[in-house]
Amino acid sequence: MIVAANFKMNKTRKEVEEYTKVLDVVNFGNVNVSVFPPCSALISKDYIGVQNAYPAKNGAYTGEIGLEQIKEFSINKILIGHSERRHILKESQKFIVEKFEFYKNEGFEIYYCIGEPLEVRKKGIDEVIQYLKAQLVGIDLNYERLIIAYEPVWAIGTGVSASNEEIKETHKEIKKLANRPLLYGGSVKPENVKDILSIENVDGVLVGSASLDVSNFIKMIEIA
Ligand code: 13P
Repeated sequence: MIVAANFKMNKTRKEVEEYTKVLDVVNFGNVNVSVFPPCSALISKDYIGVQNAYPAKNGAYTGEIGLEQIKEFSINKILIGHSERRHILKESQKFIVEKFEFYKNEGFEIYYCIGEPLEVRKKGIDEVIQYLKAQLVGIDLNYERLIIAYEPVWAIGTGVSASNEEIKETHKEIKKLANRPLLYGGSVKPENVKDILSIENVDGVLVGSASLDVSNFIKMIEIA
């Protein structure tokens, strides 16, 4: 089971240090844990990854971080394709593929996010799968360090996760497209994580809001 925390644009370095101090004494057992803090609060730890990075070692890319900055922390995990980057930061599939290729060639573990907006979900599962397929175009689905996260846009930060039936049906179809570890994300919390993890083809969860509190996150690790 994989349990991952995406802090998004939350927490200072001091707060992340306090958080990891608590997390470091937890026995993860067989659970594979990842934490993605903002880039201003990166720490050299096995379970830490970056939420985003530019596909280059260094260079004239104002406001970005690249391989050189990530390597300083010996980090080798990255989130790519998160819906907030696709929608708010307007990242195209082409640019996302560039990031994927670059960090794949550097041997990174890649948490690759896909997910449909509400208007697509309303049209039914076939439309959803077509939409998700387009978000996988150009991605090497045989990459051995690829983990896919299915995060329906309408379930992110809303407090309402997809139903168990929706997760089950969608994960089944995604597994047909890509036989890789598959996480669910979108309003996962200690109260629903057990049910979600028991669904067929769910190999873990990617948690936003509910991961910000370290005791909540530990609870989810323990349940997994
Ligand atoms: P929430 O858990 O806040 O819905 O966020 C999910 C997410 O986007 C994780 O990447």
